Amino acid sequence: MKGKSLVSGLLLGLLILSLISFQPSFAYSPHGGVKNIIILVGDGMGLGHVEITKLVYGHLNMENFPVTGFELTDSLSGEVTDSAAAGTAISTGAKTYNGMISVTNITGKIVNLTTLLEVAQELGKSTGLVTTTRITHATPAVFASHVPDRDMEGEIAKQLIMHKVNVLLGGGREKFDEKNLELAKKQGYKVVFTKEELEKVEGDYVLGLFAESHIPYVLDRKPDDVGLLEMAKKAISILEKNPSGFFLMVEGGRIDHAAHGNDVASVVAETKEFDDVVRYVLEYAKKRGDTLVIVLADHETGGLAIGLTYGNAIDEDAIRKIKASTLRMAKEVKAGSSVKEVLKRYAGFVPTEEEVKYIENALHSTNKYALSNAVADVINRRIGVGFTSYEHTGVPVPLLAYGPGAENFRGFLHHVDTARLVAKLMLFGRRNIPVTISSVSSVKGDITGDYRVDEKDAYVTLMMFLGEKVDNEIEKRVDIDNNGMVDLNDVMLILQEA
Ligand SMILES: [Zn+2]
Repeated sequence: MKGKSLVSGLLLGLLILSLISFQPSFAYSPHGGVKNIIILVGDGMGLGHVEITKLVYGHLNMENFPVTGFELTDSLSGEVTDSAAAGTAISTGAKTYNGMISVTNITGKIVNLTTLLEVAQELGKSTGLVTTTRITHATPAVFASHVPDRDMEGEIAKQLIMHKVNVLLGGGREKFDEKNLELAKKQGYKVVFTKEELEKVEGDYVLGLFAESHIPYVLDRKPDDVGLLEMAKKAISILEKNPSGFFLMVEGGRIDHAAHGNDVASVVAETKEFDDVVRYVLEYAKKRGDTLVIVLADHETGGLAIGLTYGNAIDEDAIRKIKASTLRMAKEVKAGSSVKEVLKRYAGFVPTEEEVKYIENALHSTNKYALSNAVADVINRRIGVGFTSYEHTGVPVPLLAYGPGAENFRGFLHHVDTARLVAKLMLFGRRNIPVTISSVSSVKGDITGDYRVDEKDAYVTLMMFLGEKVDNEIEKRVDIDNNGMVDLNDVMLILQEA
């Protein structure tokens, strides 16, 4: 009997050991929080966008995540969000109205919302924002600026600089006037405009503006255009020098634009580029063990459906043959090229007379997108994909996680839940701090009632932000900045006090 239990004990021990050895070991920074955070945002990237890209490329790196879930995306404006409200939720853990950049409206008063990037800065981390859109566009803007209207891009440019985000890479040169560029230099930024300059640049503060507006679509790029992967690599190489870690957001910003245009080949090319960044970042995180990677979309765009009519196969070969965005094809037709020539050259097929007529009809429309939409229509019917909208939709979007604390990001979460969890992991790691609330104290910031303001008070406040139920009396005390809500700012104010 004894021998048998010894053997089974040994076997159990071995089993436990082997289980442990399969668990990657994750490290934390000294205060217990996760060291590096990388958030990858596929703007407008629904499951349809992922699936159609997978059909063309066979396997995506996004499939390699151990933890997956869904993001609910609704904003205070309703079921269908825009990138400003979705981004605000992702960066601050609080809901807002469409169009607003990390502010919200509480009974008629516009209040600033503290962002994850700002929390990271408080923790001494380096920070970075990278995108293929203008760097002043909604998704990067929500992490380091606060304005009531996403169109205030000149003001956003100024705030991004004043926030001293270490790395700002993307398009949007047109939003940085001489004054803003001067300001950037005064703040210590190296400012670069070309691929060559990006490769060479060194320093702790880099502002890279690689297009007047958005960086061209992957399909329309020329050899000296800058891509998302090289920007992401550069950003990481600059940020990782900080021993306190870093916070980085990388956005595949034009998946959304391609989907607005119902341009399936561009959706695939932009999503593939995003997935290449996913591969790089995932490998980076796997090598290190101290980096939490979150991949998500802010909302779905286009209502992309795979399979136009029942039983029809998708022609993914036809997608591979397309060499330009529908926007560029439309531009050439508008400039006088024949529809037949343009489609033959860029879309890989000779259109029928009927298809030519359908596209030519759109030439006379007052809608500036009518022509590119008509080109897209003709292509999509041949390929067998359908878009139900030119706008955003309200369906849940993918959520993927890897690294320390990744196990939290499963099931259906709203953007705000995901942001709050990231904040918790950045500040406290996976620790669960046992807290008892002993009495009601009059000390501001003392939530636990022990007449001291310490880490525990910040922890309780964050757990309340995460949705833990408490009585009203405590909730009132937790709103340290008196703005009418419990948010990250309250947590940070207590931590600064502690
Ligand atoms: Zn959009």
